[in-house]
Amino acid sequence: MLFTVLSPPESHLKYEDGNVLDKSPLSGGRSPKITWNGYKINRVKSFKYLGIHVDDRLNWLEHINKQGEKAIKMQQNLKRIAGGNWGISQIHRWTLYKTVIERMLAHGSSAWCLNPTFKMKRKLSSIQRPFLLHISGAYRTTPTAALQTILGIPPLHMQLQFEARFTSIYRLRIPLPPFITDTQPHDLEMKATGWSTHPSEHLKPNQISFEDGEAYIARKDIINIFTDGSKTEHGVGAAFCVLTNDIWAYQWSAKLNDNNTVFQAELTALHEAVIYASHLPNHNTSNIHVDNRASIMASSNSKSTNATARKIFKILLSNPRIKVSWVKAHAGNIGNERADQLAKDATQHGQPYSHTKLPKPYIKGLLRKRMLEEWQTSWKNGDTGRKIYNIMPSVSLRPTNWIREDVIFFSQHGPFPAYLKRFHLSDSDYCSCGGIGTALHYATECVYTVSWHMRKPAPNFEQEWLKRVANNLFSRQKIRGIIKFMSENRDLFRPP
Ligand SMILES: [Zn+2]
Repeated sequence: MLFTVLSPPESHLKYEDGNVLDKSPLSGGRSPKITWNGYKINRVKSFKYLGIHVDDRLNWLEHINKQGEKAIKMQQNLKRIAGGNWGISQIHRWTLYKTVIERMLAHGSSAWCLNPTFKMKRKLSSIQRPFLLHISGAYRTTPTAALQTILGIPPLHMQLQFEARFTSIYRLRIPLPPFITDTQPHDLEMKATGWSTHPSEHLKPNQISFEDGEAYIARKDIINIFTDGSKTEHGVGAAFCVLTNDIWAYQWSAKLNDNNTVFQAELTALHEAVIYASHLPNHNTSNIHVDNRASIMASSNSKSTNATARKIFKILLSNPRIKVSWVKAHAGNIGNERADQLAKDATQHGQPYSHTKLPKPYIKGLLRKRMLEEWQTSWKNGDTGRKIYNIMPSVSLRPTNWIREDVIFFSQHGPFPAYLKRFHLSDSDYCSCGGIGTALHYATECVYTVSWHMRKPAPNFEQEWLKRVANNLFSRQKIRGIIKFMSENRDLFRPP
């Protein structure tokens, strides 16, 4: 498979005297002449395979460029459909970016974004930037890092790297370096793939029942088994118990990994129960009572992608005398109550059970946490967007409730004379009222914005003041009023 083969080659060999030998046959200098059946094979700088542009230096910049162009074209088409400014609200622009644009840019990222180079990161950032500006409605000079935090959108290379890491460990089964996670591919539950059982092989019609199974219990010739799984603050437990001729004949319970799901616990209990039942003497019929419909459904479906459910299905298929039926939970059924109690006890004191692997959401959550940590570090140590950092020191994957006016005021990239001077869009930073035209000036002292004024902070408390204003919806309404008024009356604020 191409994905695993294509890692950037060591195209430069160093001689002992420090000279560099370019040994890549395709890059620079004379390239080899290749003929095939007398036809000359032309050299190309890049080719496309499975939607991925592979360039001759294998640094993926070609691919990133092409995807970036495609993303912008896509956005223009969306704009054309929806009209200027997309004619849609910020939250819809946000959703469109996350679900359409970012998905497109992420295509095949496991092949090219596991360890992005500095150049790739920079390129991806420049692709992401116009979209962030568009979603937020911010001024074009607003720092990218600030927009990312305000919108709850991580730097593009981090998002793609997160997805590449997930694909690498979960689908390609390639271990990740220990600084990312100690979890190994074999610790993770695998999706069942390949051929399921032949369609002609199916369970006996009476083998599965979604009717309440209580009726069976009265029959003395049947071995009744009750299963349950449980997840509490103490952990995850699975259990089954066996009732024969009104006697508790056997019970089993185990403590799963704390990161296992309750569904995994239910399936584990059922799996152990069918193994137990399959070892009973041949003349016995056993009925397994399960209070979880989802696990019965998965286990009776020959095409289930859950590996445990498939194992259960195979055992049921070759043991038609094992029946599975649904029983209502917490309805006073003594067998179900007992299994429930056993599973609950096992969450604390059960024997550790390691056959049930960790679920997909676990590794996804863990890698997402890594991404957030890396994003947080770069936000904390960055040198841009510090005004926003003062107000929002922590990054998050949820967008803030800031609208355009909030972004403009708090980033202080907006129609303020002090800003225009700073970016050489004006010669003077004076407001027409005579004061210095900073964002704070308009919020506290300018004669033109009196109706929205707030108390001016002492000089050393400006940062605290901005933070308080940002976190107070009433103050934010005033800020919005000021920015709207200024945007609509620009000439009023120009110095004479
Ligand atoms: Zn003024």
